[in-house]
Amino acid sequence: AKRHGKNCYRLYAPDMNQRAVERLSMQNNLRLALERKEFVLHYQPQLDVHTNHIIGMEALIRWQHPALGMVSPAQFIPLAEEMGLIVAIGEWVLETACTQNRQWQEQGLPEVSMGVNLSALQFKNSNLHEIVKNVLDQSRLDAGLLDLEITEQIAMDGESSIEILQSIKELGVSISIDDFGTGYSSFKYLKEFPIKTIKIDRSFIKNIHQNEKNRGIVTAIIAMAYTLGLQVLAEGVELAEELDILKEVGCDFYQGYYFSKPLPCEEIQRLLNPPCES
Ligand code: C2E
Ligand code: CA
Ligand code: CA
Ligand code: CA
Repeated sequence: AKRHGKNCYRLYAPDMNQRAVERLSMQNNLRLALERKEFVLHYQPQLDVHTNHIIGMEALIRWQHPALGMVSPAQFIPLAEEMGLIVAIGEWVLETACTQNRQWQEQGLPEVSMGVNLSALQFKNSNLHEIVKNVLDQSRLDAGLLDLEITEQIAMDGESSIEILQSIKELGVSISIDDFGTGYSSFKYLKEFPIKTIKIDRSFIKNIHQNEKNRGIVTAIIAMAYTLGLQVLAEGVELAEELDILKEVGCDFYQGYYFSKPLPCEEIQRLLNPPCES
């Protein structure tokens, strides 16, 4: 039995090794990705539910890994957070997104707000207010055209986050709460944080035309948001039927594959600048 046990251990060892090696190589590649300029931003349009006008974009990071191809942020963002790299990556995202938005404006394209995702570590390990202020100065983007997306995780960090967010809001930047409904203590931070928009998580939008529970939850969120003077954006709208219900229940904005998946900046440019009709 002893020998058997030993054999078993040996059997598993190479596999575990392999995984550790892969992870290490992923970490090394991630560490070099910024200077190698392997990150790009894609942008997903956000629209007014009632007019169907594009009112904003969400910047979503993509990593073109030398060997693995496109790596999803769901895979490398958690790793970047563990490594503390997310602070530098997040700053790059902020700079790139603001510069891009300013460029669209200079090209005479219709004004859109730019949504940028923030990680909790960017609150803890960096002077976020200073960084946002510098990025706005350098890109010369109107602060009103930047929207920072935070999650409940950040909101839960308490007093210091409120102060940081308040100081950022005073720059003229707006703040959205992302993935609403999936975390904890939703009501506390709705009361205490300087939030402009609630982004309802996709899980509540999915099949809202058939799913009574989702419809009930979304209707209640919209009623509450209205009372609190907040805007509501529905995430992950994939179907015309879902959009119809969102219209009915008075949702303000939406984004999702139904209108467009996230696109590279050249395609966004084309989308914002349709050829003349005559
Ligand atoms: P998120 O902020 O909730 O972003 C929305 C995600 O849903 C995006 O995935 C988007 O492509 C996807 N999506 C949009 N519309 C639909 C739809 O109709 N159906 C479905 N099934 N999915 C839809 P993506 O781009 O893979 O990003 C995943 C997550 O990675 C983001 O979730 C966000 O948490 C994180 N992330 C992305 N970019 C950044 C970034 O620059 N900084 C930070 N800290 N996190 C980021
Ligand atoms: Ca987001
Ligand atoms: Ca989200
Ligand atoms: Ca999410």
